[in-house]
Amino acid sequence: MSVVGVLALQGDVREHLVALAEADALARPIRRPEELAEVDGVVLPGGESTTISRLLHTFELLEPLRARIAEGMPAYGSCAGMILLADQVLDGRPDQHQLGGLDIVVRRNAFGRQVDSFESDLDFTGVGDEPVHAVFIRAPWVESAGSDVEVLARVPESEDAGEAAGRIVAVRQGHVLATSFHPELTGDGRVHRLFVDMVRAAG
Ligand code: GLN
Repeated sequence: MSVVGVLALQGDVREHLVALAEADALARPIRRPEELAEVDGVVLPGGESTTISRLLHTFELLEPLRARIAEGMPAYGSCAGMILLADQVLDGRPDQHQLGGLDIVVRRNAFGRQVDSFESDLDFTGVGDEPVHAVFIRAPWVESAGSDVEVLARVPESEDAGEAAGRIVAVRQGHVLATSFHPELTGDGRVHRLFVDMVRAAG
């Protein structure tokens, strides 16, 4: 059975552990490099990306995590996790560390310039025909993506979407998956199942 770790320095760790277990993975929290070494894939939850990046450094996880992702370990980042996986961040803080792995430029707090949270039903490639109900909380969006990045979802064009309409909010580049929103909060297990399938395929 695939062992998937959830970075447990900040954020909604418990909800990710539950969603992964429901997708038939062995899910464990990770706080130490020894724990990272034992997992086949990792989930980076939402929270505050600057704080998480500082904690990654303090807990001596920054370099080992960067190295494992660069070597091909599957990683899934939600919201702040997406920011950490991006190669470039707009509106980031100067002391923010990046893990990298995704050839994207993200804009931090992109929706938050107008409203703090936003909900939308998205067409999401690879999880079936039913739309995914997405909850965005002070979320980033993907400003641009490199040619190796597959765009999985965008905010639909609608009157209330404003500046968010058409923005990229879910991407995959090989073994790295990221969403601007929080599927762990809505009880829809399809995004976690997609990630667990990626971990299995890599194992
Ligand atoms: N705004 C947060 C950040 O910049 C992300 C918010 C979230 O993860 N829900 O890190």
